[in-house]
Amino acid sequence: MADHDAVIVGSGINSLACAALLARAGWDVCVFERSSHLGGAIQTAELTEPGYLHDVFSAWHPLWVGGPAHAELGDELAARGLEYLNTEHPTATLYPDGEAAFLLRSADANAAELNRRAAGDGEAWRRALDDFLPNVDLAFAVLGTELWSKDGLALGLKAYRRLGRRGLVEFAGNVLGSSRDWLTATFASERAHGLLAPWVLHTGLGPDAAVSGFMTQVIAVAIQDGGMPIPRGGGDQLVDALVRLIRDNGGVCETDRDVERVVVDNGEATGVRLADGAEVTAARAVIANVTPTQLYGRLLDGDVPPQLADRARRFRYGRSEMQIHFALSEPPRWKGDERLGQTAIVHLTPGLDGVSRAVNEAERGLLPAEATVVVGQPLTMDASRAPDGAGLLWIQLQELPWHVRGDAAGEIEVGERSWTEELRERYADRIQARIAAHVPNLESALRKRVVLSPADLEAANINLVDGDPYSGSLALDQNLLWRPFPANPGHGTPVQRLWHIGASTHPGPGLGAGSGTLVAHELLRPTVVGRVRSRLGR
Ligand SMILES: Cc1cc2nc3c(=O)[nH]c(=O)nc-3n(C[C@H](O)[C@H](O)[C@H](O)COP(=O)(O)OP(=O)(O)OC[C@H]3O[C@@H](n4cnc5c(N)ncnc54)[C@H](O)[C@@H]3O)c2cc1C
Repeated sequence: MADHDAVIVGSGINSLACAALLARAGWDVCVFERSSHLGGAIQTAELTEPGYLHDVFSAWHPLWVGGPAHAELGDELAARGLEYLNTEHPTATLYPDGEAAFLLRSADANAAELNRRAAGDGEAWRRALDDFLPNVDLAFAVLGTELWSKDGLALGLKAYRRLGRRGLVEFAGNVLGSSRDWLTATFASERAHGLLAPWVLHTGLGPDAAVSGFMTQVIAVAIQDGGMPIPRGGGDQLVDALVRLIRDNGGVCETDRDVERVVVDNGEATGVRLADGAEVTAARAVIANVTPTQLYGRLLDGDVPPQLADRARRFRYGRSEMQIHFALSEPPRWKGDERLGQTAIVHLTPGLDGVSRAVNEAERGLLPAEATVVVGQPLTMDASRAPDGAGLLWIQLQELPWHVRGDAAGEIEVGERSWTEELRERYADRIQARIAAHVPNLESALRKRVVLSPADLEAANINLVDGDPYSGSLALDQNLLWRPFPANPGHGTPVQRLWHIGASTHPGPGLGAGSGTLVAHELLRPTVVGRVRSRLGR
């Protein structure tokens, strides 16, 4: 008798969603997490001072709320205390001259907002929606389907039947375009370009990358429709509700359990070995939420053909990231448009070219002179995260190198090329000054600042290799049909009953739990015998 039906390595959102779906279908599941915290890149903590609840890593849940796992599990999670809050002011871009552009919650509001910048851009937005919405199901299905499977083929045939040969080629071509090309062909105003361009950073891309034009449209539509939901009390509330759901269905979730090996017998995964030597067996599946470099270089070391192990070793990681957390004695007082104080996520950038320049500098090993600063304001929706009358900011910087060769502004001495505490704090000072130029009370209200460098991110979560928040570059050859890497795309592995999930796999990073859901559905797919039995009522 095996110990469990399924053993899941790691407790990120994909693992927890997968475990919950399997457990409520009657599977005996066990999740092993090497750190002392369940949830991976979801963690809420009083990082600065008591009473200030910071989402240490991820914070914004539109992908979860709009995703397939939430559609299935949402009611059961709500019954376990999970509550989502939302806003009418999801995002804005604030330019160096103090002007701001806003993305709001309806097509009418956005058309009016865009027309204020350039007559005709509002109508351009409506036309873009008219082009995109009729096939929105296909667009989201690309991100929600196991592409190298019968389902992927069925999706292709559905698109062919609807669009015809030429239409399908055009649709695919549009998916491949860059954000720059789509934005500049669609809107006249540079403010409109700068409003949407920073969002491609949240997909791990830059505005000149393949597929970034498609992702810009997907995100713009998702934000207009879905807003910027967050759980009351912080991201840990989602983790807690999922873990409760798993345990209520007989599952096990354990921390401080490092899996060092997938046990393979006759080409089939039969369980895992933990770092303390214990072996745990799995009768039906081992599901690994790890990077390809860990899967093939550690957990399966010697168990797969050397050529495949070599391809996995070449899996590339993307740009590095930094988080800054501010605890403030009062709310930030923004200069300019009063709506900035109510907006969940404000991007500070000179615009499309500013994002492009900062991405390019980071990719060349430089600290960007004028980074895109993501200023997150969870208190705009959830006052419970800070003491009465206080302020709290969540700052994200997605354009950083892992090996730092220099400073594009020529101000910071980068020393050893690695992320020392000194380098981390000096770079955070630059960002703090950028924010303070728009929030004059930032420094007088500052109670405490905690900065996490790329090295801190990697130390916190083994999947964030080189401080890459998205667990792998999303360049076209590692995206969509080719994720995690072209020699072994999809979620199956050369080892029978071993499945690969997590941000490194399709549909990539974010809290949508797409890969965990796809694998759970595959495992729960009725067999031919099961289908006959259910038809016979037995
Ligand atoms: C700083 C930051 C901010 C982000 N912000 C957002 C956001 O606001 N919204 C959004 O949608 N997305 C955001 N993302 C992306 C999103 O959080 C991640 O893509 C997602 O959480 C990844 O989930 P996952 O299931 O791949 O696993 P992860 O969250 O990476 O968790 C994997 C877990 O597996 C464990 N593990 C790995 N190997 C082993 C092993 N051998 N044995 C045992 N345990 C192991 C790790 O310790 C880790 O806890 C952010 C990411 C980061 C880093």
